[in-house]
Amino acid sequence: MEKMIEVKNLSTSYHGQEALHNINFSFETGKLIGIIGPNGAGKSTLMKSMLGLIRKDEGEVSFAGMNLKEARKQIAYVPQRAAIDWDFPIIVLDAVLLGVYPNLGVFRRPKKTDREWAYECLKKVGMEDFSRKQIGELSGGQQQRVFLARALAQKADFFFLDEPLVGIDVTSEELIMNLLKNLRDEGKSIFVVHHDLTKVEDYFDNLILLNKKLIKSGAVKSVLQPELMREAYEAQFSLLDSMGVFS
Ligand code: ADP
Ligand code: MG
Repeated sequence: MEKMIEVKNLSTSYHGQEALHNINFSFETGKLIGIIGPNGAGKSTLMKSMLGLIRKDEGEVSFAGMNLKEARKQIAYVPQRAAIDWDFPIIVLDAVLLGVYPNLGVFRRPKKTDREWAYECLKKVGMEDFSRKQIGELSGGQQQRVFLARALAQKADFFFLDEPLVGIDVTSEELIMNLLKNLRDEGKSIFVVHHDLTKVEDYFDNLILLNKKLIKSGAVKSVLQPELMREAYEAQFSLLDSMGVFS
């Protein structure tokens, strides 16, 4: 039997205002899936709802037959960069070790083998030379690579990354996308909130096109249809149109 990741009848509101309305989709595991849609479409909300980070009004999520509680340890999440406190005083290696020990420093000292594993993960993202640096000293791309290393350190099966490519350099972008493709080839399932539409065909196997409701999910080509894109990005289209961009 094929293992699937499924979302059924998912709705989420903020203060009584619905941000996501009755979302349904399912994907085979082992795919690289882009979540696209205009600003405020509910992309981050979808991720947080799937991961139980905010309360949904309704809906079921299953990860290869497991519910969230059962899958929790196999899930790695990298929030939007803007949502992270980069002034938090922590060195790079310890930030990666947080993938191994969520409560590092409070309850236990990491073992040598775990430090070595964290260092290995830093190597995978090309950041081993920065292991003693403060996280706040790094560039945007470097920070994102460190957070990906932390996700790798967790040995997760399901990865959720919210706009990992925003505000980073081309080298980091290539490195991150290659890593994600390798993870996918190892059978991991990866969801990526993404807002640049130019490279989605190169980057993803499947897409979720959102604008508060699900416009379409499926293979990249089946989603990248002009009428569907127009439906999702309607507000922007008319705004740009009213600004004379198309005339
Ligand atoms: P996206 O990630 O696609 O840009 P979000 O999921 O962040 O969109 O937001 C979806 C909608 O929910 C937006 O209208 C946004 O203003 C609203 N929203 C997001 N987070 C909150 C919050 N914490 N409180 C109230 N409204 C929110
Ligand atoms: Mg967002």
